[in-house]
Amino acid sequence: MKKITILGSTGSIGISTLSIVQNHPNLFKVIALVANKNITRMLQQCELFSPDWVVMNDEKSADLLRKKLKNRKIKTFVLSGEKAICEISSLPEVDQVIAAITGIAGLLPILSAIYAGKTILLANKESLITCGYLFMKALISSKAKIFPIDSEHNAIFQLLPLEIQKNLGVANLKKNGVKHIILTGSGGPFYNFSLSDLSNVTPMQACSHPNWSMGKKISVDSATMMNKGFEYAEARWLFNALDSEIEILIHPQSIIHSMVEYYDGAVLAQLSVPDIKISISYAMSWPNRLHSKVDFLSFLKKNNLSFFEPDFIRFPCLKLAIDAFSQGQAAMTVLNAANEIAVSAFLDCKISFSKIFQVNNETLMSSCFSEPNTIEDVLEIDRTSRILAMNKVLSLSS
Ligand code: NDP
Repeated sequence: MKKITILGSTGSIGISTLSIVQNHPNLFKVIALVANKNITRMLQQCELFSPDWVVMNDEKSADLLRKKLKNRKIKTFVLSGEKAICEISSLPEVDQVIAAITGIAGLLPILSAIYAGKTILLANKESLITCGYLFMKALISSKAKIFPIDSEHNAIFQLLPLEIQKNLGVANLKKNGVKHIILTGSGGPFYNFSLSDLSNVTPMQACSHPNWSMGKKISVDSATMMNKGFEYAEARWLFNALDSEIEILIHPQSIIHSMVEYYDGAVLAQLSVPDIKISISYAMSWPNRLHSKVDFLSFLKKNNLSFFEPDFIRFPCLKLAIDAFSQGQAAMTVLNAANEIAVSAFLDCKISFSKIFQVNNETLMSSCFSEPNTIEDVLEIDRTSRILAMNKVLSLSS
């Protein structure tokens, strides 16, 4: 039986992971759950899964949860704060850590799990985006293993040879016969919108992805296509890929979750209904496969697969992320920080959808950092960039 910790258990990925655990009680045991403030959902999860530990990032939420658990005679031990999250991410008895906290808040807990040599199922892309070099260096010099959960990266992982699967971030694609990684993306809810229509879209529209059900932040990133740019960066690090080895292709139906083209001319694709539980269950059970109780694909119903080139004019955030990656780690950290601020301002109706790009672009243009050598450097760039981005938001919303 694998013992697991879920960082971000009350979110979209966390809930999907727990549904897999519920379907396979003989294979997985929940040791620890982590969230920020959502005690209603955390209480339900404690009742169902009886974890030994819970950490709520927010101290008041932890206090309230402790009282509620005591009233229900549930013996889960509750801690609070970032330090406790890092400690829980490295518990000696845990085999797998599912990393699904949103944003840069996920970075330190993931590093803590890496240093402790855990198997990490990575959903949080911000940790790789902000400090891919330091992240991969820590991974390579530890006993930790990493399995991508993001559906595209999980699909690519499924299609790559065992040699690469076992040596993520290090193995050479070309030496293993791989010519191209073809990263597919739906194009998001606004793929057919004109530039002028895009300026009027609401947070609710942006969060209604046509194919996937996800948390708010990643849904908005899908709508701006910043998410695809972040996924490009994620793929560069995870698969040790050159820019010329990655192609981005819009595939609105989200049936093919990515492809790998080999030098012999063969192209392998991973297809399924769009359900993240498939990626999570593969990562949890690799190299085996579980019954994940999702719908099966019907080729006769889904027979209209189409493909398009990405449109950098209507979706400039995608190009911005690709360019920032080529500038280096500092630029990616600035972009990630600016984007977290801009998306949050859009969700709070402080700026319009089109202004997300403007905040990101202007924050990047006005920043000038040297490349980070340590995680502390990354966190400092992140902190300063957030202030810059908040000032941009203020100037745009006043
Ligand atoms: P959600 O917003 O649905 O959930 C986020 C989770 O993180 C919640 O449990 C939240 O707790 C917790 N959290 C947020 N901030 C903190 C913090 N400071 N300390 C501790 N816990 C915190 O996000 P998703 O599940 O959609 O996404 C999670 C990550 O996975 C993101 O990085 C996203 O990019 C990535 N991802 C998601 C996919 C998806 O299908 N959803 C697909 C691919 C990648 P609380 O509920 O208390 O706020």
